Amino acid sequence: MQKQRQHSERGAVVVTGGGSGIGRTIAEQFARAGEAVIIFDYNKAAAEQVASDLKITGYRAAAFAGSVSDEADVSAAFALADTCFDGVKTLINNAGVSGNCPTIELSLAEWQRNIDVNLTGVFLCAREAGRRLIKAGRPGVIINMASMYGVVAAPNRIAYCGTKSGVVMMTKTLALEWASAGIRVNGIAPGYVHTALTQELIETGRLNAEALNHRTPLGRFGTPEEVADLAWFLASDQSRFITGQVVGVDGGWSANGYL
Ligand code: NAD
Repeated sequence: MQKQRQHSERGAVVVTGGGSGIGRTIAEQFARAGEAVIIFDYNKAAAEQVASDLKITGYRAAAFAGSVSDEADVSAAFALADTCFDGVKTLINNAGVSGNCPTIELSLAEWQRNIDVNLTGVFLCAREAGRRLIKAGRPGVIINMASMYGVVAAPNRIAYCGTKSGVVMMTKTLALEWASAGIRVNGIAPGYVHTALTQELIETGRLNAEALNHRTPLGRFGTPEEVADLAWFLASDQSRFITGQVVGVDGGWSANGYL
């Protein structure tokens, strides 16, 4: 895919959870295409590593260590975009946590952790981006990382499915609210994607890769690059008439009512 954007070169792309997995690949792909990126991650070492690797190779990046569910951290992360890169133009609301636990065994603490990161984090970061873009009179893009499990259900995932379906509806609500300000808000709903985390789950027997491949019409896991390609399209002017949508990148999983 040709990495070109037709709108302003000013401003940064804030990628939450950019220290690993899908977020890291998105940050790298956007930086290599010429965007300035802020890697906003709870894991300080990971955020700094990604930013430093990009800077060493000549790309524009800065790391911010903090939590998306902490109001002061969110404000400080966006302030860093002001200091380093003339503000924000795109937010990739990617940080998320997941878990797999029978509902009768799920602790309140684990439920709350999902609410804090997957819902409150998305809200706080979107609110901060929206406030700044609207105040500056700038167009912008917000992309929320949902999941196919925000659209179709799975057992033992009440916290994950519940919060990710919330992300789907928050995406539509914000798209309506901010369309007149020139801010497009879309979501991405990945299926199973090969990351270090899913690899570990496979190796420890907690995910059955063979069964999941069989359930997926395209017969395999997705790659972080395939999710990043969709993020790139949704952030670019090529998708200028698209807002309020949650686009699946799941190899056909959510369309499959057969197996
Ligand atoms: P990952 O665990 O590899 O990366 C998530 C990153 O978010 C980590 O670097 C972590 O430190 C960071 N993070 C966690 N809590 C944070 C917080 N409070 N504040 C800031 N950063 C925080 O996960 P991933 O697989 O790359 O998933 C990224 C997103 O994609 C998540 O929202 C996830 O739900 C979604 N998703 C992933 C898959 C998949 O198969 N990997 C499928 C569907 C959706």
